[in-house]
Amino acid sequence: MTQLEHIGPPRVAPALITARGLEKHHGQTHALRGVDVTIRQGEIVAVMGPSGSGKSTLLHCLAGVITPDTGEVTIGDTRISDLSEDQRSLFRLTRLGFVFQFGQLLPELSAEDNVALPLMLGGTRRARALVQAHSWLERLGLAGMERRLPSELSGGQAQRVALARGLVNAPAVLFADEPTGSLDSLTAERVMETLTDVARSTRTTLVIVTHDARVAAYSDREIFIRDGSVTSPALESAV
Ligand code: ADP
Repeated sequence: MTQLEHIGPPRVAPALITARGLEKHHGQTHALRGVDVTIRQGEIVAVMGPSGSGKSTLLHCLAGVITPDTGEVTIGDTRISDLSEDQRSLFRLTRLGFVFQFGQLLPELSAEDNVALPLMLGGTRRARALVQAHSWLERLGLAGMERRLPSELSGGQAQRVALARGLVNAPAVLFADEPTGSLDSLTAERVMETLTDVARSTRTTLVIVTHDARVAAYSDREIFIRDGSVTSPALESAV
């Protein structure tokens, strides 16, 4: 390598999620008070703050689950705050992945069908969706458990199935809301290792809401929120 090859701008991943001026009221509660956030392609970001500070409201605005009262959210080329409700549903289904605190697997569906569901809802035939579901279940250490119902899985196994379901449609962003909140600490560590290993190896942008510093320790960067405002630098100077 010549010396010249060292010169030039640093290789910084482009911004994938950009939120500007987000305000959101829930009735009388001012849940977000002008939040600006930029998250880069492939970043693992923890959104932290005390209970009631606005973390979930921010996550729901970033993911297009709810629309802010004012402000805008862009993911890639799509300004999701401008989409209709139907368009936002389709965008979430096809471009985003979600993992929740209690997994929220459908109890009457087997592990494989739970994982295949986002693909089938997007129009993929079941046989093909199951091939992809099996591959994710195997990758997450669940080979042999494809036919089990959620009630036949441990908490950690069920949360891995939920991870597989969140990842199966190769989302641009995986949103995780307290993904280990219902697990004991050892299982939580293993799930966080799996979650962050997979996100890094697939270059999936991961946004984790948590109040737990042990969970946040797996992230590249933390965004702190208090009383609806970001209290740490959410914007990097290079943006
Ligand atoms: P966090 O995720 O940090 O616990 P939330 O975003 O859930 O915080 O809530 C922020 C504030 O908005 C809290 O005061 C909460 O009580 C309020 N809030 C959230 N969702 C609703 C809702 N659907 N209706 C009324 N108030 C809500």
